[in-house]
Amino acid sequence: MKYILISEVEKSDNQEVLLKAWVFNFRSSGKIYFLQLRDGSGRIQAVISKDSVAAEVWQNCENLTIESSVEVSGKVYADQRSASGYEMQVSDLRIIQRSEEYPIGKKEHGVDFLLDHRHLWLRAERQTAIIKIRDEIIWLMRSFFRNKGFILTDTPILTSTSSEGTTTLFSTDYFDETAYLSQSGQLYLEALAMSLGRVYDFGPTFRAEKSKTRRHMMEFWMLDAEAAFMQHEQNIELQEELIVYVVSGILKNKLTELDILQRDVAGLKKVKAPFTRLKYEEAVKQLKKLGSDIKMGNDLGADDETILMKEYDQPLFITHYPAAIKAFYMQPDPDNPDVVLCNDLLAPEGYGEIIGGSERIWDLKLLQKKFKEHKLPTKEFEWYFDLRRYGSVPHSGFGIGLERTVAWLCGLDHVRETIPFPRLLNRLRP
Ligand code: ATP
Repeated sequence: MKYILISEVEKSDNQEVLLKAWVFNFRSSGKIYFLQLRDGSGRIQAVISKDSVAAEVWQNCENLTIESSVEVSGKVYADQRSASGYEMQVSDLRIIQRSEEYPIGKKEHGVDFLLDHRHLWLRAERQTAIIKIRDEIIWLMRSFFRNKGFILTDTPILTSTSSEGTTTLFSTDYFDETAYLSQSGQLYLEALAMSLGRVYDFGPTFRAEKSKTRRHMMEFWMLDAEAAFMQHEQNIELQEELIVYVVSGILKNKLTELDILQRDVAGLKKVKAPFTRLKYEEAVKQLKKLGSDIKMGNDLGADDETILMKEYDQPLFITHYPAAIKAFYMQPDPDNPDVVLCNDLLAPEGYGEIIGGSERIWDLKLLQKKFKEHKLPTKEFEWYFDLRRYGSVPHSGFGIGLERTVAWLCGLDHVRETIPFPRLLNRLRP
């Protein structure tokens, strides 16, 4: 008998096939068993009639428990009433492993209980839908950059120092010295941009921020993009194009999963370039009018982002932040050196900042001056200065956080469900 995935049943219409799956639910009417099966690729109902199977097969049905793993064979056929559009009439059923009593039931569980059982919770339909959307977002981002001629490359996770001070870094022993887990690949990517022109990396990043918010994790995935000869304006346009590409790809390819999540897609359908751009100063003025207590010169907090985004139904760029509250490497605005050529991109519907980007300082003297101001150890960064010594060029880039993008597109109010095993302030297990 041919073994197929549930997602392949359409191609085997009216044929006898073998499925290998888990029983996520079942009921019996005495003479008929209705099994709900899942195998990762899809879900299907399998029907077993006492009269048409061997006594031993019926016995196996009576032994079933939720989450038992099984092999079932039978004929698959189209059925309008079933969610997958197909059903199976079972002729044989074998239990691979009879599950012990499954801890996650139909009743509502608290978040802590679910996170303690994350290794099992991942089997839930909602969770698999989120993981599939996450996968699609990753493929869309990669194909976007590939189409644009960007080369995927890798930056290190173990680093000797950080681009923004070491207070929010996780450290680990590295033989006789201390290594830090990367919080962004940007500085290394700048070196690669001077080699390959247009590059991006995509990998895990780590931040030891004691932030217990619905948008922060200690470990998250970031895609950094960097391009030589690209300046502030093109950097913004590139981000805009990326977001439009990803959102439209998700709307095209992942409607089933969005439906499972009951995501109202009306907001996503509105995402069209160009996005509104607001200079930091204007944003703060607007925030004050909206009732925020933000002071000019302070960074926008998560609450400010939420208040501001009530006014916009599209992603919003905030640009030209004060140099004093941004990283040392950002290029000052030639018209006003107190602000830098940078941008954050805020997602609509209250999902907060998803991208941070900037034009980078490419003049050696200016960079060294900024190092002094930020009291950074110049010795550690000699290699970074070299990039400004040997054929320096204007260049820009940005980092997009995967989990916040997943949270926005899936309509999740917390990032903890956007990654299989979230690392949160008080959670390192499972
Ligand atoms: P925030 O101010 O919200 O903490 P940030 O300014 O530190 O973010 P960047 O350093 O610009 O963020 O990082 C780029 C992107 O990485 C952010 O726009 C966001 O999408 C994502 N990101 C940053 N920190 C976290 C985190 N702790 N958890 C999940 N995603 C994050």
